[in-house]
Parts: sequence; structure tokens; C-alpha cells
Amino acid sequence: LLLHQWASTRDMDFYVWDILAGFKAYRKLPVVDDGDVADDNIDMGEYLNPTSVIENTNNPLTGMDHYTKQETSKETNKNMFCGVFMGVVDDWLKEPMIQQHIRDHVQRAYQCNDRMILMLSPGTALPDAIVGDVEVVDLPTPSFAELRDVFQEMQDDIADLGYTPEEEECDVIVQNGIGMTQQEFENAVSLAIVDASAMIEAADEDAKPEIGIDHFVKTVRERKLTILKQTKILELMPPAAMSDVGGLDLLKEELDLQRDAFDKEAQDYGINPPKGFLVVGPPGSGKSLVCKATSAMLGLPAIKFDLSAVYNSLVGSSEQRMRACLEMINDMAPCLVFLDEIDKAIGTGGQGSNDSGVSSRIFGTLLSWMQDKQDKGIPVLVVASANNVEQIPPELLRKGRFDDIWSVTFPTEEERATIFRIHVEKRGHQLTDEDYKKLAKHSNRFVGAEIEAVVEAALRVDYRAKRPGVTVATLLNRLANTIPQAKAFPERIAAMAAWAEKNARPASSKPEEPDDAVEPKLAGGRSRPIRRPLRPSRAGKN
Ligand code: ATP
Repeated sequence: LLLHQWASTRDMDFYVWDILAGFKAYRKLPVVDDGDVADDNIDMGEYLNPTSVIENTNNPLTGMDHYTKQETSKETNKNMFCGVFMGVVDDWLKEPMIQQHIRDHVQRAYQCNDRMILMLSPGTALPDAIVGDVEVVDLPTPSFAELRDVFQEMQDDIADLGYTPEEEECDVIVQNGIGMTQQEFENAVSLAIVDASAMIEAADEDAKPEIGIDHFVKTVRERKLTILKQTKILELMPPAAMSDVGGLDLLKEELDLQRDAFDKEAQDYGINPPKGFLVVGPPGSGKSLVCKATSAMLGLPAIKFDLSAVYNSLVGSSEQRMRACLEMINDMAPCLVFLDEIDKAIGTGGQGSNDSGVSSRIFGTLLSWMQDKQDKGIPVLVVASANNVEQIPPELLRKGRFDDIWSVTFPTEEERATIFRIHVEKRGHQLTDEDYKKLAKHSNRFVGAEIEAVVEAALRVDYRAKRPGVTVATLLNRLANTIPQAKAFPERIAAMAAWAEKNARPASSKPEEPDDAVEPKLAGGRSRPIRRPLRPSRAGKN
């Protein structure tokens, strides 16, 4: 309707095409003296129904030309019209005939300034042949204020549930919807209302549930999660508490300093919004865990951006997918983005090195987005992780790209005791301080994920043996039966350590022990049998 009004006030004919209905011509809306559309006493139905329809036009521009040629003014040779094409798809734009039509219209528009053609698409890669003729306008998702209006209009329905949200509660619910389209947000809130009324209806009279902010936030977040999942590239990560991370004291201290760094007060104080950090370390050393804990600490949603999945689309559309995802991330700001195993996705010799430059263009897009968000002050914290330092492109490590590059290596004895405690207690079991010390002593060069895997395996054994809780003897036994990756891939680990020493800040203040400190012993003093190591990239992954 807005476009129809816009065209009418400029004395333009108005046409709309979509694949189902075909090509439709509409009457101009009546315009009053001041140039606005007359909105009183008009039967809009008369104007909102098309005056004629041409169905089944495979080339909608042909349909439009049918009308426009008839309407061309003999005196001015002008033909004032606005044509809107809904749901334009890639295949359509690849047709040479359609491309020629587009070029002709562009030329006529330059000569006569008489036409406006709008093609609406959910995300289309423009073929090279017409890229210079078409102006691309990205429509951002609605602002906070726009979604707030949508939410306001639903207040009566929400009040029927016996819940009248306070202003701040409304803001929190709307904040959780940022990044959704108006329709998606409205659907999510409607769903929350329908669910809530069903719950109220199903409950006994004396035990009716109390609907509050949590119900709305949960439903909106779940809907958003579904939308993100549909991209198959972005995924919302579950939060973790910083207390779930064992060790890494220096990294934690630094993160604590950034706690309020996105707040207005901090910016007013002269603090630049943090850029983010890169964590380098062996698989399973807690890089993803740190990311989840950082997001929880800063109160930001964490979005995992699977860069490798960008390549899994057809080469031609990889860049477009990449841009769409980056836009979605901008829309969700403030948020944290996790680029896991960035070395694999964009590393030299990594995937896509043989893809006619797509991978380097994607990498370039990533770098310029990182710069752009910083210049524009878009509050997105980028956390990246890498296992194989040799494959990280040097441009990514350039000063100023990240706030810090951290190296997480093997936990120290003290850190391992903490990690054992975290995983044992998380599963509802208890051991003594002495037990944890003993376990730490016998797990030299085990990373967090390997320790977690040992705890899980021991639990299974003790459960089978009907013991009341996990025992230190079983844990020691499992330790002795596991070869940590540090032993299985010593060269790779040594290369990483050498690189980290020169290029990264250690995440822990305590030095790690030499790798031959203490050999785990089987219970009973036997030496350890050789077993298959845990697969490094999957060990204990959650
Ligand atoms: P990858 O390089 O394979 O992606 P990663 O370094 O990201 O691995 P995580 O996925 O964070 O490692 O670790 C897997 C699991 O191991 C974590 O979810 C956590 O349960 C456990 N873990 C790893 N490090 C620690 C730690 N420092 N404290 C507590 N648990 C840990």
C-alpha cells in the first residue's frame, strides 16, 4: 500500500507481479491538492483490487511491457509507472531475455526519468551481466522501536493472560526479538500467548500457572533459535558459567575487566567497545567453553558462526550467504560471535583453496566486516578459536584485529584438580581435596575435555559396579588407560607451543609442567598399556 501511495502521489501507474497471481495493474489512488493521497471517504477496495490481471507470465517484464507500451504518452514519450516484482529468484534473473529487458528499462529510466522498477527478493545473487544496472538496497530488520510498537499492539491479548508487563520487562522481551522480522516477532509473541492460554486452561482452578516475562523471553528466544538454525550456518550457543571453566586465570581476569565494556557509561568514560579475542590451543582445551562463559558473563547471546558451512553451498552463492549471515549478526547486536576452528575454514591450504578465489573473498568479507562493525560501533564481540596455528592467515593476526590473542595450553596440576572437581561435582558426586590432588598428579598433559571424558568413563564403571559414588581408584584406572593427545601428537603440540610463545598471551599464570612429569600408573602399580588416543577434535565435545 505504501508503494501504491508513493506511485499515486507521483502520478505513476502501479503494477505488481508475483509468481502465483501473475501481473496485476491497479488504479491510481486519488490524490488531493496538497499532493497526499486522499484518505477520507474512499472505498479503498475499489483501488486495492487490480483492474486487470495477466496470469502465467513466465517473463513478468513482458506482462508489464504489454501495459506500459499502451500507456506511453504521445507528446512526452514518457510512461510514468512503478512496477513491483515480488519474490524474484536467481534463476529468473539469469535468463538472457529478462536481463535484456532490465537493461532496456534502465536505459529508458535514464532518458525519461519516468519509471521505477522494484524487485523484492529474500536474498539474490545478481548475475554479473546486470550487476551494474541494478541498485541493491538492503532492508535491515526492524529496529528496537519498531518491534516495541509491534509488542505494544499486543498488550491487550497479553493482559488477558493476567500479566501486564512493566516497561522494562517489555524492553527485555523486545530486546530478545532483535534480528527477527516484524512478522517473525509477532508470530513468536502470538505463540507465547497461545501457549500461555493453553497452559492456564489445562491447569486446575486452584493451581493456575502465573505467566510472566520468563515465558515470553523463552518463547521469543526459542523462535529466534529456530530461525538461526534454518541458516545452517548460525547457531545459538548455550551459556556456561565462568565457574565451569577450570584454570585460565589470566584470561578470566582480563575478561572480568571487560564486564561492562559495552555499556554507555563505559563508552562515555572513553573506553572503546571490545573487539574480541582469538584463543589458540589444542583441541579440547576449553576454547568453546570460554566463549560460552564470556557470553554469559557479558549477558550477550552467543552465536556460533560455522564458517565451513558457508562453503557447503554452491560456490556462486557462498559470498551471498556470508553477507546475509553477517547482516543477521549485526541485527542481533549486542551479541557475541564465535568463529570456531577459524584455521580450518579460512586457513592457508585449508578448505576452499581451489575454489576460484571464493575462500579468499569470504575471508576478505569477514575482515572488512570486523573493521566496519568497529568503525560503526556495532556491539559485536568476536571470539575466534584455532587449533592449527600454522594455517592462520597472518592478516587475521595483524595488530588491532583482536584485542588479544590468548594461548591455552595444558592445564597445570592445580588447574587439573579444579577441572576434575568441576566435572565430578557437576555430575552430583563428591571426592576429597586429597583425591583431586592425586588425580591431578596423575593426569599430566591431559586437557579439560580428556579429563571430562575420564570422569564420564569412570562414572559408567562405578555405576555398573553398583558403587554409591565415583571412586578415585576407578578414575586413576581410567586415566592410566587413556593416552592424551599430547603424547599422541607431540610434534603438533610442540609447534603450537613455540608459536604461542612468540605470538600469544598465556591464558594461565602458572607454567605448565614438562611432559614427562608423572606417568599415570594403573591401580596396583602396573605400567600403562598402549591404547588408542582420544580423537583430538572430538574428545569430550559438547
Ligand atoms: P576444539 O578445539 O576441539 O573445538 P575446545 O578447545 O573448544 O575444543 P571445548 O569444546 O571448550 O574445547 O571443551 C570440550 C569440553 O571439555 C567442555 O565443554 C568442558 O566440558 C571440558 N573442558 C575443556 N576445558 C575445560 C576447562 N578448562 N575447565 C572445565 N572443563 C573443561
